[in-house]
Amino acid sequence: MRLLVLSDVHANLEAAQACLEAAPAYDAAVNLGDLVGYGASPNEVLAQFEKLCRWHVRGNHDAAVAGHTSLETFNPVAAVAAQWTREALSAAHLQWLREVPAGPRRLPGLKGLLFVHGSPFGEDEYLVEPQQAGLTLMRIKALAAFFGHTHLQGGFSLEGSMCAELLPNLELGNGADSCELKLDPKARYLINPGSVGQPRDGDWRAAFALYDTESPQVTFYRVPYDLARSQQRIRSAGLPERLASRLAFGR
Ligand code: ZN
Repeated sequence: MRLLVLSDVHANLEAAQACLEAAPAYDAAVNLGDLVGYGASPNEVLAQFEKLCRWHVRGNHDAAVAGHTSLETFNPVAAVAAQWTREALSAAHLQWLREVPAGPRRLPGLKGLLFVHGSPFGEDEYLVEPQQAGLTLMRIKALAAFFGHTHLQGGFSLEGSMCAELLPNLELGNGADSCELKLDPKARYLINPGSVGQPRDGDWRAAFALYDTESPQVTFYRVPYDLARSQQRIRSAGLPERLASRLAFGR
């Protein structure tokens, strides 16, 4: 199966559209959470993704907007955006968001794989350090766990007791780019497709990944999108300026 893996869209419609236009042929799509929050197009993004993805995992922003968790743990900018999103969403989209299951999820036909938002042990846990990632990989029974939340494309691999960071071999630029990573069946992996709508790895381009279960192999993608339009929507909505400006830097 060729699985399209999308995470952290954050209501950025222009970035989502660019990813879908650039995506290769796939059999099914999975969303790793945070469809909403930060960006200004939550209804448009949900209208598209509710149908597009066969499976969804709830993100911490989805949970907060849906009212499952409190906004107290959010920084002020994120809390303002979550509150705005809650008011902007149609009743039907808000109801749909409330029903998105929390991870970790195992999915039919995708044996040996785990799908989470933050980590297999918490939707709000940030996996950023190899040591922490290694301990996580030792505790799970899966070839790979797909995760998001950090908005950093790549992930980690564990072979024996050695955990290494996976950095996609992509050059910074303004064009589209992609690179492949073959998985070694003797190793274990945490794979982050990167953030569609608010990358934080210093690359402004929208990020996603394709996983081919046959090879098995991951292809990481970066694609340019209509950044100016996305920023203009955030400003017109009256959301905090930082949410618009940061998109240009991928921070
Ligand atoms: Zn996020």
